[in-house]
Amino acid sequence: MSVTKRQQAADLTMVKRANTSLIANTLRTQGPLSKAQLSRITNLTKSTVSSIVNELIAQGIVREAGIGSAGSTGGRRPVMLELNEHAFYVVGLDIGTTAIHAIVTNLTGVVLNEKRILSLPRDGLHSLIHRTVQLIQATVQESGVEMQAILGVGVAAAGLVDHQQGLIRFSPNFGWRNVPLGSLLQEVLNVPVWVDNCTRVMARGEMWFGSGKDVSNLLYVNVGYGIGSALVIDGELLGRDSEMGHVTVQDDGPLCGCGKHGCVEAISSGSAIEARAREAAVQQHSTLLLELCQGDVTAISGEMVASAAEAGDLVSQKIISEAGEYLGRAIAAVVNAYNPELVIVGGGVSQAGKLFLEPVRRGFQKHVMPDFYAENKIVGSRLGTRGGVLGGAGLVLGKGSELDVDLFFEQDERA
Ligand SMILES: [Zn+2]
Repeated sequence: MSVTKRQQAADLTMVKRANTSLIANTLRTQGPLSKAQLSRITNLTKSTVSSIVNELIAQGIVREAGIGSAGSTGGRRPVMLELNEHAFYVVGLDIGTTAIHAIVTNLTGVVLNEKRILSLPRDGLHSLIHRTVQLIQATVQESGVEMQAILGVGVAAAGLVDHQQGLIRFSPNFGWRNVPLGSLLQEVLNVPVWVDNCTRVMARGEMWFGSGKDVSNLLYVNVGYGIGSALVIDGELLGRDSEMGHVTVQDDGPLCGCGKHGCVEAISSGSAIEARAREAAVQQHSTLLLELCQGDVTAISGEMVASAAEAGDLVSQKIISEAGEYLGRAIAAVVNAYNPELVIVGGGVSQAGKLFLEPVRRGFQKHVMPDFYAENKIVGSRLGTRGGVLGGAGLVLGKGSELDVDLFFEQDERA
C-alpha cells in the first residue's frame, strides 16, 4: 500500500469514527430517536446512519428503545434507538507547563483511570507528542477499555488556540507558534481530537461536571500563572478569547506583560503573587518565606506563599489578601457588565481556598452593583486540579464538538 493509500484508509476510518461519534452524541443528548430522525438531525444520509447504527447495535453500544409513533403521513411506526451510555468512553487531556494529565471517563463523566507525566517543554514538540500518545494509550489500556470504544480525545492547552482547527497559534510557555496539535495527535491515535484553550475547556468542565452544572449564565475565572476567563451566556460558551486579566484595577499599578500598568493579572495572578513574595523575601520582610525556600528566593512558589500565610505569616497573608481583593474588583467589573448568575474561580491560585476566596468576595462586594450582589455568587472550583482533563472530556461530549465534526463530513463527501 502506498503512503497515500494508507493515508486515505486512515482518513476513511477517521471519518467513520467521527460520524459514529456524531450519531452517538446525538443519541446521548436527544435520544431516543429513530433512524430517520437521526439522519435529519445529523445531515448524514439514511444509508450511512443505517450502516453505523446496525454496527453500533451489534456492538451493544446502541439499543432499541421501543416503537415510536407514526408520522403525520401514517406508515410504519419506527423503531426508536438509544445510547448505551456504558459502552463508549472519552479521553480528556490537559497539557500544562509542568504536567500532562490524561483521564478516561464514561459518557456520564465517571473517571475510570487517570495518569500524569511531566511535560518537559524543553525536550521539544516531537518528544511531547510521542510521550503524550504513550500516556493516552497506557491510560486507556489500564482502564480495561478498547481503543475502538474511545469516542475522541479533548485537549486543554494553554495559549491562543484556534479550536476549529486544533491549532495552537501561540503558546509562550512551550515556545509554539502555529502548531497543529490536534492533527499531530490524531494522525497517530486515529481517533478524533479536539483542542481548545485551557480556560475555555475548564469552563466547559464546570458546565458538565462541576459547580456550573445547572447554571446557564456563568463567568469562569482561571487564576494560574496568568488570569484567563470564559463567559457562558444562555448555556453557550462565548467563542472569542477574552482578556479579563487585563482589566485595570490600580492606576499606575505594577507593569503588566501587555505593556500597561495595573492590570489585575499583574497583581492577582500566581506569577504576580510569587514576584511580590520574592521581593518581600529579598527585603527580609518575611523570615518564614526565607525559611521555606531555604534561602533560595527564586524557588519561592505560590504554594509556599499559601503555606506561609496559613502558618500565620503576615507578609504572605497581605500579599494573598490584596491579590484576592483586586481580583474581586475585576470580577465586579465583568459582573456589572454581564450579570452572570455564578462566578467560578479555578486554577492553581484558587487551591489556596478560603484564604484567597474570602478577599475575592470582599473586593467583589465592595465594587459590584448592589442589585447584582449575592452572598454565594462567587464559588471555588470543585474540580480542583482535574478541571482541565474533565473539561477535555466535556469537549468531546459537548456541543462544541458538533461544529468540529462537520469538518469531517466535508472529507466524507470528497472520499
Ligand atoms: Zn495587562
